Amino acid sequence: MSASPVSHTVRCGTCGRTNRVPAAQGRPRCGNCRAPLPWIAEAGGSDFGTVAEQAGLPVLVDLWATWCGPCRMVGPALEKVANDLAGRIKLVKVDIDKSPALARRFEVQAVPTLLVLDRGRTIARQAGAASAPVLRQWVEQALTDSAQPA
Ligand SMILES: [Zn+2]
Repeated sequence: MSASPVSHTVRCGTCGRTNRVPAAQGRPRCGNCRAPLPWIAEAGGSDFGTVAEQAGLPVLVDLWATWCGPCRMVGPALEKVANDLAGRIKLVKVDIDKSPALARRFEVQAVPTLLVLDRGRTIARQAGAASAPVLRQWVEQALTDSAQPA
C-alpha cells in the first residue's frame, strides 16, 4: 500500500514562483505574491475525508481508472479547470481501482465520474469526459446553484 503524497509543488500562475502545496489543509496561496494557487490532490479510502470532505472550499472529484482512455483525456482538462478556478475549487483525483469503497459509495457506473462536493455534500455529478470549457461551465454552474439559499 502506498501512502498518499502529503504535498506537491505547483507553479504560481501569477508570478511564476514554485510553491509547495499541502494535500489537506488550508487554502493554498503563493508565498511570493499571495495569489490563490491551483490545488490538485490525490485521495484514497483512508484520506478522502480529510482531503476532500473537510476541504475549506468546494471539491471537484475525478473518479478515474488507469485503464480508461477518456480519463486520460479528461485529466488535463480538469487540471486546466483547477488552474482557471484557483482559490474557488480543489481538484481531488481518486483511482477507483485503489479505492473500490469510494467507487461503491458514489455508485460509480462509468469512468470518469465527476462530482462536485461542498463540505462533503454532492452538489453535482456527471459521467463521461468533456472539454475544459464545458467542465469549467459545469463546475461554475454547480457553485452558483450551491450558493443560492435552499
Ligand atoms: Zn505568485
